[in-house]
This record gives sequence, structure tokens and C-alpha cells, in this order.
Amino acid sequence: LDDDIKSGREALADILAGMRAGVAFTGAGISTECGIPDFRSPGGLWTRNRPIDFETFLSSQPMRDEAWRRRFAMEEAFGGARPGRGHRSLARMVGDGRLAAVVTQNIDGLHQASGVPEERLVELHGNSTYATCLACGLRHELSWVRTRFDALGGRAPDCPACDGPVKTATISFGQAMPAEAMLRARQFTQGCDVFLAIGSSLVVYPAAGFPLEAKRNGATLVIINREPTKFDTLADLAIHADIGDILDEIQ
Ligand code: NAD
Repeated sequence: LDDDIKSGREALADILAGMRAGVAFTGAGISTECGIPDFRSPGGLWTRNRPIDFETFLSSQPMRDEAWRRRFAMEEAFGGARPGRGHRSLARMVGDGRLAAVVTQNIDGLHQASGVPEERLVELHGNSTYATCLACGLRHELSWVRTRFDALGGRAPDCPACDGPVKTATISFGQAMPAEAMLRARQFTQGCDVFLAIGSSLVVYPAAGFPLEAKRNGATLVIINREPTKFDTLADLAIHADIGDILDEIQ
């Protein structure tokens, strides 16, 4: 390990030693070592496909078909992803009670897969590992959508219960943030003694407001990200290194 990583790990270990009710706030950067690319880095997903916003999804059958085509292409590319060193380290801290919650922008389901229980996890942007009907809220498994999609010759299926549109359980641009998740994230953030912002460029609001809110409430703010963020100067500790290298086996 190089000197920067060593000193970053030491400073972080000191903070974690005194942590009693921390919150980890994670973004796409924690999952890149699992083979899932982030959005904004060069070569990231956004440079390839313009995202389909909520209104377009609702109003256009061809765009719903396209959204599902993309989702299945992602499934083929990253469907087998397993939790990485960052996810496992946070799950251990939840397990020993030092982390009160993991609040994530990610939609990949890897925090659940690493063993963080539902009551300790807040998914601000939803979850792409299953689907829901936008009209009646019924949950549909991805495998069911896939089977129907193929049977319909590449057409997005409607809900069998109510004919409503079926969408991954994620929050798209133009779609309201889930009120309950926002409330829980705020409560955890206001009550935390240490706020760890991990692998997020911290540019997407309202999610990017949380580090500020934590700091305002007296929490120690730690930022771990490969590249600088605009909150680094506000942080008590900002580490610019690989997340897995920093969090791996840290106590
Ligand atoms: P982002 O792409 O804006 O930022 C990710 C940050 O992580 C970047 O600043 C990058 O430098 C850093 N990073 C990448 N790999 C790293 C590593 N190994 N170590 C340290 N830093 C690393 O992502 P964001 O702001 O978190 O997300 C924007 C939106 O995209 C979110 O809404 C999120 O839901 C969605 N998204 C989710 C996934 C996923 O679920 N895995 C993947 C891509 C995008």
C-alpha cells in the first residue's frame, strides 16, 4: 500500500474507533470493483445512453420497450455481480452496531446482498433488481418481466393485475423521490455521530444535501472518493483513493 492509502486508513481507523451511530452514504463508486461502472467517470454509462426520464417512460410504449431492453442488457453484463470489499466492510460495521444505517444512491442491491438488514438500509433511488406496477404497486420479479418481454417479441409487458405500466423499482429523472426513504435518510443523518460519504461525486440533489446536513448537526464528516468533491473542504477527513483498498479489513 502506498503512503497516502496508509495515512488515510490510519486517520479513518481513529475516527471509526470512536464511532457509535454512524451513517454510510454510498454511491456508484463502491460498486465499480464489482464490475458495475459508475455514471460520470469517463466511459461511464451516461456517455453511452441518454437516460429515459419518467414522463417519456410513461407516455411511450417504444421507450418502455427500450428501457427494458437496456435493463436486460445490463443484467447480462452485471447480473452476477457480488458485494465488494467496501460493501462487506460496511456490513461488518452494521453488524457490530457502530453503523446505524447505510443510505445508498445505488440501485444494484449489493448492500442487501452483503447482509445489511432492511431496517438499516435506505435506498434513495430504489432498486433495479425487481419491478413494480406504477398503477397498483404490485411487485414483479425480473424473471417474470423477461419471460413476458420475450413472449411479446421485445415488448414491455403491462401488469397482469391492472394493465398498468411495469417499471424497475428505481427512481428515474422526473420521478418523485420516495417520501419514506427520504424521511428515514434524514432521520438517520440527523442522529449520526460520523457520516461517511463513499464513492459519490455528491452532485445529485437532494441526495447531495445529506453530508451538509450531517455536518450541520455536529457529525464528523468523512469523504472517500477517487476524485475530489466540492465538499472536501468541509470534511474532517477526505481520502482520495480506491474504496476497496481503504475499507478492506479496516477495524
Ligand atoms: P457518480 O458516477 O456520479 O460518482 C461515482 C464516484 O465514485 C466518482 O466520483 C468516481 O470518481 C468514484 N469512484 C468510482 N470508483 C471508485 C473506486 N473504486 N474508489 C473510489 N472512488 C471511486 O455516481 P453517483 O453520484 O454515486 O451516482 C449517480 C447516480 O447514478 C445515482 O443516482 C446512482 O443511483 C446511479 N448509479 C448507480 C449504480 C449502481 O447501482 N451500482 C451505478 C451507476 C450509477
